Amino acid sequence: MNSKNHLESYFVPAGQIKNGLLIIGGGEFRHLHKVKRKKAGDQVQVTDGEGNFYTVHIEEIKATQAIATIVKTRRLVGETLTAITLAQGLIRSRRMDWLVEKGTELGVRQFVPVQMDYCRVGVSDLKIIRWQRLAQSALKQCGRSILPQIDKKTSVEDLVNRLPKPVLFAHSGGKASVLDVIRSLGKKKGTLLRKVSLIVGPEGGFSEDEVAFFREWGFHQVQLGARRLRSETAAITFVTLTLNALGEM
Ligand code: SAM
Repeated sequence: MNSKNHLESYFVPAGQIKNGLLIIGGGEFRHLHKVKRKKAGDQVQVTDGEGNFYTVHIEEIKATQAIATIVKTRRLVGETLTAITLAQGLIRSRRMDWLVEKGTELGVRQFVPVQMDYCRVGVSDLKIIRWQRLAQSALKQCGRSILPQIDKKTSVEDLVNRLPKPVLFAHSGGKASVLDVIRSLGKKKGTLLRKVSLIVGPEGGFSEDEVAFFREWGFHQVQLGARRLRSETAAITFVTLTLNALGEM
């Protein structure tokens, strides 16, 4: 990774970028101007969250926005080759905050909150907006260029259509490790997996019906080690082991 990729970036939606010119406004402008004290003539990094990562030259600082020109464009900076979708049984909001932040730092492309039989909490649309905001700050901090998608709550049945294949689910008791499964899937395909989905249970775990359903649909069971992990620890461990198995850590 180029050392520039470690620099914090600013988020500017694609709609504010036209013909090599972009407008940094709102909270991003306040951060740039008031906190970082950037001036006309300085260069900063910008991402549109759609895979573009720009080095820009600040042309002008106005009262509420900065006008900048693009000096260099790079694609997919900080992104993994394999897109990881993480489906998580609903857990308490604060724990999910942590999971979204760390998962974004690791490169997760899509988070899917799932209502499962043993979930003890619900989720409102406001929480989804909050997680989108958290994902945006983590994206800027870690130097990625694709803003992860955060889906609305879905059901276990809906996962069959929603999740990119292959799908792995973490459930203690099995023998296969993430490395075993990813290797054997890679061999079968004869090429790098472009997509993979991971499912993690809520604090109460999966019900027997859910496990039977996953098996029926050909989802692959994996274990994450000898100890029972909290859901969010399991999720982050699962993503890390998957990236490692793919050679993308
Ligand atoms: N009482 C639950 C059970 O025994 O299934 C514990 C659930 S655990 C707190 C929450 C979720 O994390 C599980 O549903 C599973 O997806 C994942 N998990 C935690 N530790 C794991 C391990 N060692 N191997 C596989 N999955 C694990």
